[in-house]
Amino acid sequence: MEIGSAGVGPAKRSFATIVPRLIQSKFGRKDLLYAEALQSVTLWLFTFYCVLCFVRVGTGTSCFSNGLAFCKGRLRVATYDVAIVGSGPGGYVAAIRAGELGLKTIVVEKDPFLGGTCLHIGCIPTKVLLHHADVYENFKNAAELGFEVSGLNINWKNILARKSKIVTKHAKGIEFLFKKNKVEWVQGWGKYDGPGRVAVEKDGKRSIIEAKNVLMVSGSEARSLPGIEPDHKTILTNRSILELPEIPKTLIVVGAGAVGVEFASIYASFGSQVTIIEALPRLVNVEDEEISTELDKAYRKRGINIFTSSAVESVKNEGKGVTVSFKDKDGKPQTLQAEKLLLAVGRKPMTENCGLEKSKAKMERGFVHVNQFMQTEEPNLYAIGDIVAGMPQLAHAAMMEGIVAVTHIAGKETKAIRKTRIPNATYCEPQIGSIGLTEKQARDEGYKVKIGKFPFLGNSKATILGNHGGFIKVVSDEAYGEVLGIHIIGPLATEILAEAATVLNLEGTIDDMMNMMHAHPTVWEAMGDAFASVRGLQINV
Ligand SMILES: Cc1cc2nc3c(=O)[nH]c(=O)nc-3n(C[C@H](O)[C@H](O)[C@H](O)COP(=O)(O)OP(=O)(O)OC[C@H]3O[C@@H](n4cnc5c(N)ncnc54)[C@H](O)[C@@H]3O)c2cc1C
Repeated sequence: MEIGSAGVGPAKRSFATIVPRLIQSKFGRKDLLYAEALQSVTLWLFTFYCVLCFVRVGTGTSCFSNGLAFCKGRLRVATYDVAIVGSGPGGYVAAIRAGELGLKTIVVEKDPFLGGTCLHIGCIPTKVLLHHADVYENFKNAAELGFEVSGLNINWKNILARKSKIVTKHAKGIEFLFKKNKVEWVQGWGKYDGPGRVAVEKDGKRSIIEAKNVLMVSGSEARSLPGIEPDHKTILTNRSILELPEIPKTLIVVGAGAVGVEFASIYASFGSQVTIIEALPRLVNVEDEEISTELDKAYRKRGINIFTSSAVESVKNEGKGVTVSFKDKDGKPQTLQAEKLLLAVGRKPMTENCGLEKSKAKMERGFVHVNQFMQTEEPNLYAIGDIVAGMPQLAHAAMMEGIVAVTHIAGKETKAIRKTRIPNATYCEPQIGSIGLTEKQARDEGYKVKIGKFPFLGNSKATILGNHGGFIKVVSDEAYGEVLGIHIIGPLATEILAEAATVLNLEGTIDDMMNMMHAHPTVWEAMGDAFASVRGLQINV
């Protein structure tokens, strides 16, 4: 299969026949003669150009250019400015922005659809289920809101169907955006094949794409634990748990990062008895310690069992269920049984068999090292998203990295990504939103830290919503009132995080934010109280 090899033949034929005929029909015979003369001259020029290209190949000079190119004596038509391997949030956003910047762009995707982990088995399907879980919780609490609800049932099949419908709609949306921005895409396994080349393998056939720049964005997949293999029926990953035909009565979640606590939240709402086993001392370990403590408290109140500092030793798959053995935090051996077990113990980069070993790109445990413009050490080879070393595995981080990479390729000015400006959102109940330094990180970095904290209990809109647990914690530098970090747990935390991200990106101070008006009554206005609480000037508690 030759990629992008359409064009020259049909274009030549159309020029030879269609253009003179059009001129004849419009202006008459004399103009037709002029057109034919012009056509001959153009064909001569074209032949001359081809000979020149052959000479350049023979002398080893680069033959890449936008448009036609001859390589190894064979005619290739489309040489791309950028070839992108992977169509997840990193890949598709990079491709669309590249198209907008006028770069000739092609995406290689192994799956028959666009969107990657985030759209098909990550961010979007989990947030659909979390929304449904939230609606169900509201129905369950109907009496408190003054409603009498009877015959409330979960139609799991319909919920899964709605999830699939949303995913498909958005995958089609990406195809539409590709067309709109003249981005081409091809299905196949993409591999870096040396400077300016991406090999595409599909159904035993191999073809080559030529591109001035290559962007690797092959994403990640679920890790498992040594000796514990998911069978996708009883021992599940984030992929197989989305296809369960029924809600399990009992579920063990191994791992309490964002993925683990979100699934624990979903299934606890739908009635499963959920147990979390986490090797580290606390839930959501990347968050501020007080956030972890608050989540632990809220989950236990919801009836979720939690074992922290507890490493799983073995999992016995008995077909109809699992038996898990582990030592709890006091070193006491424990055994638990459940219908299903979810492994949520992190994600590994998918860089195997991607040809990166042929390059000078620096690799570490499968992750790729890049500079501030997402360039690897191999010229014109970029890497973004979940495969990048030292960056969080988040969709919005992948998206922004893609924008930085293609803007740099286009030769335009771009800003380096600052890790302390990447927001974290976990959509469990209660929600968590955070950005910047935790209190401990700020102290470790030597700041003279001043903390402000405001509980949602004092926020009237949170009370209206019937959801006033949690708080907002502001970490600031006493010297200049600079906001260093904001940590939210409670209602709409992932939405009001917007203000936190803005403050940190614009380097606002506590005083700037205290003097900014917040609309009333909103959950958002709790931010105003939280900033004021750094100075002991909060109003509502
Ligand atoms: C359950 C779950 C929930 C999540 N929720 C959130 C969330 O709410 N918010 C958030 O920010 N992040 C979330 N994430 C993380 C987010 O999904 C990832 O950070 C994001 O998808 C990474 O984007 P990416 O483009 O690097 O890779 P991916 O989305 O993994 O995409 C990589 C693409 O490359 C393709 N591919 C791989 N190898 C090749 C190859 N050799 N040739 C061709 N194609 C190839 C794959 O098929 C895939 O389409 C979640 C993850 C999981 C698992």
